[in-house]
Amino acid sequence: MQSGTNLTSVRDYNELVILEAIRRKDALSRVEIAQQTGLTAQTISNVVKRLLNQGMIREDGKCATGRGKHRVQLMIRPDAGYAIGVQIERYETTAVIVDLLGRPVARHQQPTKQSEGADAVIQVVVTMIDHLMQQIGIARERIVGIGVACPGPLDHLQGIVHNSLGLVGWQNVPLKAILEEKTGLPVVVDRDATAAAIGEHWARRDEDIRNFAFFYVGGGIGTGLFLEKRIFRGSTTMAGAVGHMTLDPNGPLCSCGNRGCVGYTSDPHGVLHTLQEHLRQGATSNLTLSDLTGREDLAFEKVCDAAVQGDALALEELRSSARWQGYAILNLINLLDVELVVIGGPALDNAIGDLYIEEVRHVLQERLLGNNQRTVRVERTVVGADVGSIGAASLVLHTTYTPQLKALNY
Ligand SMILES: [Zn+2]
Repeated sequence: MQSGTNLTSVRDYNELVILEAIRRKDALSRVEIAQQTGLTAQTISNVVKRLLNQGMIREDGKCATGRGKHRVQLMIRPDAGYAIGVQIERYETTAVIVDLLGRPVARHQQPTKQSEGADAVIQVVVTMIDHLMQQIGIARERIVGIGVACPGPLDHLQGIVHNSLGLVGWQNVPLKAILEEKTGLPVVVDRDATAAAIGEHWARRDEDIRNFAFFYVGGGIGTGLFLEKRIFRGSTTMAGAVGHMTLDPNGPLCSCGNRGCVGYTSDPHGVLHTLQEHLRQGATSNLTLSDLTGREDLAFEKVCDAAVQGDALALEELRSSARWQGYAILNLINLLDVELVVIGGPALDNAIGDLYIEEVRHVLQERLLGNNQRTVRVERTVVGADVGSIGAASLVLHTTYTPQLKALNY
């Protein structure tokens, strides 16, 4: 049985097909919609009339067809609806409001007060959402819903965050239920990497990508998977947990309890730990032990800055981290045969992101199976540092406005 959605009323399937076709191309005529969707002129005429009446789309002038004829162009009205996206990270919580095209129109960021517990963090989220809505003066009824991205493991159907490895002290928190009660709006909850993949999919709306992976580096490493044009989460919302892929069964102990995980050799926590060891053993660097302790996101930024300024130890450690991530991505591509890997997340949204791209491409050139027959693109995110929160908002839009089989009830 397919699960349903509580986000707004489920629209007519053909309405969603036509909305999606227009959104992907910015502007389309009725004839072009027919060519792209295979729907009849009569169906298109009826649905377009409904969408115009609802204020979802508008007619925009006329476009010459080249044979002396003119066709009316149809466009999405970006202000017809908005979605809120929230990303809860270990140190910072970010909230955005995006319009119907997934473009951010407001943003707010605050420290995540983890030590005060999940209830306090959620209360901060509620206050941030109120603040954002007041800031741009959008009425509550024009908000389609709230998407929340946070580190897993979690149950995206129930919206329950289990014993999150990224949020200390979170144990089976019913995040969706609490936020829905406090805000009166529908809420969806998903892993940060999955939200990032959806954000990327929406931002690249004119690209026709069938299979891609979003390699997300925040406090830890995760992958959001978009396979056969659909989000893939696995049976327990844990698909894509590459940060805990075993690369060396006898390697160092990871926070998950296993040894030799990808994350331990290459995520910001692992990089800081290795550099601390090097400094204790007398390695030369402009970094000091105190630079490498305290808030890990800020300490990792210092490492990236040092590398950019030519610090050999920092640069070599980051190259090593990037290569290990390259091996993880290599395994992922060999397993799933994706055509694009997008690299992003708060830790790599800086000058060092290009070094990661370079090293990953190098590993793939050397080792990827079938290198002569296929090209796998490795690119930085086009969304930027807020890909988690913008992705969370896009998740709401995706669930509400993308034609999916569940809308057909089978
Ligand atoms: Zn692990």
